[in-house]
Amino acid sequence: MIPLTYARATTLDEALDAAHDPGTAVLAGGTELLNWLRLGITDADRVVDISRVPGLDRIEPLPGGGLRIGTLVRLNDVAAHPSVARDWPVLRMAIHKSASAQLRNLATIGANLLQKTRCAYFRSEEPVPCNRRVPGSGCAAREGHDDRHALFGWTDDCIATQPSDPAVALAALDAHVVTRTATGGRRIAVTEFHVLPADGVDRDTVLEPGELVEAIELDAPAPCSAYVKVRERESYEYAIVSAAVALRLRDDGVIDSARIALGSVAMRPWRLAEAERRVVGLAPDDDAVTSAIEAALAQARPVAGSAYKLAIARGAARRALMTAAGVRP
Ligand SMILES: Cc1cc2nc3c(=O)[nH]c(=O)nc-3n(C[C@H](O)[C@H](O)[C@H](O)COP(=O)(O)OP(=O)(O)OC[C@H]3O[C@@H](n4cnc5c(N)ncnc54)[C@H](O)[C@@H]3O)c2cc1C
Ligand code: SF4
Repeated sequence: MIPLTYARATTLDEALDAAHDPGTAVLAGGTELLNWLRLGITDADRVVDISRVPGLDRIEPLPGGGLRIGTLVRLNDVAAHPSVARDWPVLRMAIHKSASAQLRNLATIGANLLQKTRCAYFRSEEPVPCNRRVPGSGCAAREGHDDRHALFGWTDDCIATQPSDPAVALAALDAHVVTRTATGGRRIAVTEFHVLPADGVDRDTVLEPGELVEAIELDAPAPCSAYVKVRERESYEYAIVSAAVALRLRDDGVIDSARIALGSVAMRPWRLAEAERRVVGLAPDDDAVTSAIEAALAQARPVAGSAYKLAIARGAARRALMTAAGVRP
């Protein structure tokens, strides 16, 4: 049994007070945190439940057509919101492909971005070398199973990937994470929110101690957007690779702008900037779109076991782009 004290925050100020204490973990839906406590991934001895802090569970329109989604909104409630369904279908699709319906009823959108890697060594119940679990202990995946690991942005310290589905959609939407601290807060691009191994394996995100996620903000609607998730089974499974695409199309159907993000290929959602540039001016079903995606993927640096993911990434990005454009893939 793990000795833990439990308290409930009733205001945002109480939640911020709790978040400052290094021995305290805040609890939203609890679907990740309880696993970490069980596996010893966190050594917190106090849990402060923020799930009923008022004001963090609302979805509100923003001036200019955007949307503010409070951190405590449950995944299924985000996906069911009429504005999300109409204007940001990529986010709805990504959520529907996440976890299970039961988990999505409990899991919150803000904490979804804070989930940790699914690297089996990191989640091991037995002690194994893992720089993320025990700094300086090594990386068991470098000599072991590395087939679910990175294509981009890894170092010898860690080759893991970030598993969130919604994060990939939010990266393609150029969404922002709004945070709150006791003295203020900031607005962080989702594409900059997760920390790559080159910048340290001691933390997953740029959140500072005592800083809480308050909301996710979406800018202008992206009705031509779609998400494709490739996994070993069609339900209740993490991605091998996923792709999110948000397009703007000209009146003649040609691509005016594209935002393309891959998931489960790095410790953050990975934008294919080269492909985004090269597809402008093309019809969505032009073969040159595939060449543009291939050119971006040529910059990948797979580890030995993950090279097979390149072909999957190409197919997923292609399919997501066609679906976003309303063209049958
Ligand atoms: C079996 C299983 C399968 C899953 N499959 C998928 C999947 O396919 N795709 C996918 O995307 N996800 C998947 N998930 C992850 C799931 O979506 C996340 O666990 C969930 O979104 C986390 O939300 P939560 O509210 O339960 O977080 P919690 O468990 O309550 O919190 C997680 C972490 O976030 C911190 N935290 C919570 N709220 C805040 C806040 N406002 N500010 C700062 N820190 C905060 C907590 O302290 C904790 O460290 C799966 C989870 C499980 C258990
Ligand atoms: S890949 Fe990263 S998380 Fe996995 S064992 Fe290596 S250091 Fe740990």
